Amino acid sequence: MKSNLRFGTRAIHAGQEPDPSTGAIMTPIYQTSTFVQESPGKHKGYAYARGKNPTRVALEKCIASLENAKHGLCFGSGQGAEDAIIKLLRPGDEVLATDDLYGGSYRMFVKVFEPLGISFRFVNMHDASKLKSELSEKTRMIWIETPTNPLMKIIDIKKCVEAVAGKNIIIVVDNTFASPYLQNPLDLGAHIVTHSATKYLSGHSDVVHGALCTNDDKLHEQLAFIANSCGAVPGPMDSFLVMRGLKTLHVRMERHCSNGKAVAEFLRNHPKVDKVYWPGFSDHPNHAIAKSQMKDFGGMISFTLKGNSMEEAFAMASRTKVFSLAESLGGVESLIGHPASMTHASIPAEIRQKSGVLDSLLRLSVGIEDVEDLIEDLRQAIG
Ligand SMILES: *Cc1c(COP(=O)(O)O)cnc(C)c1O
Repeated sequence: MKSNLRFGTRAIHAGQEPDPSTGAIMTPIYQTSTFVQESPGKHKGYAYARGKNPTRVALEKCIASLENAKHGLCFGSGQGAEDAIIKLLRPGDEVLATDDLYGGSYRMFVKVFEPLGISFRFVNMHDASKLKSELSEKTRMIWIETPTNPLMKIIDIKKCVEAVAGKNIIIVVDNTFASPYLQNPLDLGAHIVTHSATKYLSGHSDVVHGALCTNDDKLHEQLAFIANSCGAVPGPMDSFLVMRGLKTLHVRMERHCSNGKAVAEFLRNHPKVDKVYWPGFSDHPNHAIAKSQMKDFGGMISFTLKGNSMEEAFAMASRTKVFSLAESLGGVESLIGHPASMTHASIPAEIRQKSGVLDSLLRLSVGIEDVEDLIEDLRQAIG
């Protein structure tokens, strides 16, 4: 729901009240499976914790507030949220998804849902005006990731919304990379925004969690029904950790962005680095769109090495000392990853290379350490 309070204030307070029984300022971790009823059906709004848990409800309200959404729902992981969204569809329906997609989403779409009769087409949405010509009679959902993973392509959300106007098509945006601090897809006309809260929302690499938000009452009702029926809900401790992480989202994101800019510029000027993918460069193909739909450019950067040698990329990723070699992103600590063998290994090599995920491509999640240490680390690791 729109609030007059500004982003940072909502990140700290939205959905949260002092605990009515003790005054505790932090929302308690309601570690309970069930709630006592006065008489059958007469309770305080909570019956069984798969359906609703007070810690989770507070977090759902907070995330919804940050996405300017009416409704929020939390899940045991980002994939749990995505799973619920695809279950809105029926056999025969088709999804058009960004071609440069998170590997786990690709795997779930193709290996789990395609055999159940839902079809997926992966299209280049870089020029959103072409989306209209890709639509078929079966298209029921557009799945957008922007910035994309790992090539940092920017997709024009508003243009995609315009392309399907008046049609019975749901626009979903995976907003994991930008976080609600940088981008609010629902404001641009998307119907559902989904997150791996494992990443920037929680921000401390200590929890796996997911969320989705919508302004559409009917979609929310369907999604809440799926969440309760299928049961991919998070525990209260994990919801508490995400809620605690959210309180510093705005402060962390500012530092991720300024560190990201410095690292991107360092890499671009390094003689052994070939291409650097970062939407903040003025010659990034969709820089103008990034500038208009995002508040800043984030801390995710990918780059390739001259010569495109997988061995050299492996060696570099093993030599960093401040950057840890690990999957995931969005935490306070800097990470380096090799998409072709790690996050994107589940995408067949041919499709992967066609989409531009080359053998020497390395991806950085720039953390919030002192940026001089990050740059010195990369300098010694590139050699
Ligand atoms: C990590 C990630 C996911 C999956 O989230 P989990 O919490 O790992 O299940 C989905 N989309 C993007 C863009 C991601 O980075």
